[in-house]
Amino acid sequence: MRVAVVGAGPTGLVLGTALARRGHTVTLVDRDPGPPDQHTWPRKGVMQFHHAHLFRSTAVAVARAEMPDAYDAWLALGAEPAYVDDALLGVRSTRETFERAVRSTAEAQAGLTIRRGHADEVLVVGGRAAGLHVDGEELPADVVVDASGRSGRATADLGERAGLGGACGIAYVDRVYRLRRDAEPGPMSTPMAYFSDHLGYLVLIFPHEHGLFSVILIRGSKDKQLTQLRETHVFDAACRAVPGLADWTDPERAVPVTSALTGGNLLNVYRSHRRPDGALLLPGLLFAGDSVCTTTPIFGRGVATSLLQVAELLRLLDDEPDVDAVAERYADWCDTTMQPWVVDHIEIDEGLARRWSGQDIDLEGRIPSDLVLEAAGQDPEIAAAVGPWASMTGLPASLDPVRERARAVYAGGWRPPYAPGPSRDELVALLGL
Ligand SMILES: Cc1cc2nc3c(=O)[nH]c(=O)nc-3n(C[C@H](O)[C@H](O)[C@H](O)COP(=O)(O)OP(=O)(O)OC[C@H]3O[C@@H](n4cnc5c(N)ncnc54)[C@H](O)[C@@H]3O)c2cc1C
Repeated sequence: MRVAVVGAGPTGLVLGTALARRGHTVTLVDRDPGPPDQHTWPRKGVMQFHHAHLFRSTAVAVARAEMPDAYDAWLALGAEPAYVDDALLGVRSTRETFERAVRSTAEAQAGLTIRRGHADEVLVVGGRAAGLHVDGEELPADVVVDASGRSGRATADLGERAGLGGACGIAYVDRVYRLRRDAEPGPMSTPMAYFSDHLGYLVLIFPHEHGLFSVILIRGSKDKQLTQLRETHVFDAACRAVPGLADWTDPERAVPVTSALTGGNLLNVYRSHRRPDGALLLPGLLFAGDSVCTTTPIFGRGVATSLLQVAELLRLLDDEPDVDAVAERYADWCDTTMQPWVVDHIEIDEGLARRWSGQDIDLEGRIPSDLVLEAAGQDPEIAAAVGPWASMTGLPASLDPVRERARAVYAGGWRPPYAPGPSRDELVALLGL
C-alpha cells in the first residue's frame, strides 16, 4: 500500500518507519528540512520543539517496540532512561535529541521517503483520499495520514470534525540550563521531574541528557503580571526567589544555555475522525498524534498519546487488510481511548484555575484526577488505585472507583499543602511587577 503522511514529527516518523517495515511504501511530507549536523535544529512551525519535554514510559515503549534501533541511537546521543525499582519510568532527553535519533533512523529506512515540501491539501478522487497536493504537485497514495500536529491545516478544508476543547487556561515560560562539571542535580520529586505547587503558579524541572535541564514556570494565561517572566532578568529573579528553583539554578551549580522561552496558546483539544453527523471525514484519510488530541503539557502526555495512537493503528492494520474497516475501528478507539485524556485535562485545568482564583476545591463536582492523586497520600485505597492513571496504562476512568474516597478526604478538611516559597501575589510583589 502507498501511504502519504503529512508531518515528520514524532508521530509521522514512528508510524512511517513502522509501516515501511511492514512492506508499505511511505512518503512523509514535511516543510522542515531536517536537522543540521552541528547546530541547533531551528524547527520552525513546531512551537514546542525547543520547550521542555519528558518522555514517559508509555511513549518510550512504542518507540522502542517499533524502532529499537532508534532507541539505541537515542541512548547513544546521551538520553538517560530513568527507573523506579526495575520499571522504566521514562527517558530524560531534550525533544531535539529524541527527534534527531528517530529521524536519522527513519531516513535510513528502505521504503520510506522523507520529502521536504508543504502539503497543501488532500487529493480527493471519487470521494476518497487519493494522495496529497505537495507544493502544487500530486503525490498519489492509497491512504493518507494527517500527522501534522496541533496546528496543521492540510486537511482543514475537508470540513468540520466532531470534537471538544480549547485553550487550557495556562501559559508557561521555560529556560534550559546545564549543570556545571561535577555538580550534583538539585532536588527531585520523581526520577523524571521536580515539581512544586505554589498558590497561583507551578514550577517544573525536567532533567535531560548531558547535564541539561529545563526550568518551567507555569501561570494562568490571564495573569498579566506574571507574563513578565518571559523577560530573562525577571525569570532569573523568580528563580532566586523560589526555594527549589534557587537550588537548581544556583550559578555555582548550573549555567543557562538559552534565554527564557515563551510557550503560548496551550490547548486541551480533541478532534475526531468523524463529522458532527458521525460519518468519517473522508474515506482513506486517517489522523494520528496531536492532530487528534493535544493536552496541557504539565503532565507531559503528548508524545505518549501520539504514539499510543500509532501503536493502535498499526495493530489494527496488522489484523485487518481493509483500510476502511480499520478507519472505522480506529476512529472509535480514538473517541473512547484518546478523548478521555483531553476531558481529564480540561477538568484538571479548570480545577487549577479555580484554586488559583482563591476558591476552594469544588466538593459538589467531579474530583479532578490530579486531586485524586494528591489525596493518595491520605488514603491507602486511593494510593493503590492511582498507578494505572499515572502511568497511562489505565484511562482516567480507572480512578472513578476512588473519586468518592478522594471527595471524602477533602470533605474532611485536608488540602494539598503548597510548597515553601512565595505565593503568586508574594512573587509579583517581590519581583516588583
Ligand atoms: C509547550 C509544550 C510542551 C510539551 N511537552 C511535552 C512533554 O514534556 N512530553 C510529551 O510527551 N509531550 C509534550 N508536548 C506535546 C508534544 O510536543 C506533542 O504531542 C508532539 O509534538 C506531537 O507530535 P506530532 O508528530 O503529532 O506533531 P508535531 O510534533 O507538531 O509534528 C507535526 C509535523 O507536521 C509538519 N507539518 C504540519 N503541517 C504541514 C504541512 N501542511 N505540510 C508539511 N508539513 C507539515 C510540521 O512541520 C511538523 O514537523 C508538549 C507540547 C507543548 C505545546
